[in-house]
Amino acid sequence: MNRPRAVFLGIMVAALLFVCREDVAVPATAWAELSETKFVALTFDDGPSDNTTGRLLDGLRERGASATFFLVGSRISGNEKLVRRMRDEGHQIGNHSWDHKELKDMPVAVLGGEIDSTDELLLTVCGEGDYWIRPPYGLLDKGGRGKVSKPLILWSVDPEDWKLRNADKVTAHVMKHVQPGDIILLHDIYPASVDAAFKIIDALEKQGYEFVTVKELLALYGVVPQEGKFYASAR
Ligand code: ZN
Repeated sequence: MNRPRAVFLGIMVAALLFVCREDVAVPATAWAELSETKFVALTFDDGPSDNTTGRLLDGLRERGASATFFLVGSRISGNEKLVRRMRDEGHQIGNHSWDHKELKDMPVAVLGGEIDSTDELLLTVCGEGDYWIRPPYGLLDKGGRGKVSKPLILWSVDPEDWKLRNADKVTAHVMKHVQPGDIILLHDIYPASVDAAFKIIDALEKQGYEFVTVKELLALYGVVPQEGKFYASAR
């Protein structure tokens, strides 16, 4: 992202977040509609990984792209520097449970532990932050949703990178299906997915897309996130 555009985007997001905090109605015309830029959010699950996440962060920085990382708590130990680097380089960090168990139908006490232990570790490693949640496999039942105090983030484009493990096929799927406001699901623990992320960014930037965090994406499209609700895209 070039500097004037980054400053413009920052001001728009800050203004909208301020408006939301003050409980004033969101303008009927979302900021994204005022801009010719198409915004999209890349999300990376299941990391951090000392094999692949550093290379991904390098490539995102080279391209001026922001992303969102949903981290597995048990994989943070030993990778604290990578996690702080995500924060320092403007990416959003989220909670993907402690050890990637399916949270659906889980007793509430156990579910609380899965979410809270990762949240507490993120607070220790990265400091205060609102670490939004992506439940493993995107599954959380109604009882569980009532217990979480964060927005729940799903996705609208899923190239099944974990299955394909092929950068060209993953890129082709995303290029075929993506629309402005989408949340794209990838996994930074696979080298092919990191390669795919770079191909996707390079191709979509040529089409006028910019890569923002999920929080920025929702704000840009006038979506006000609420606790315990699922969001799969900004549309
Ligand atoms: Zn996952």
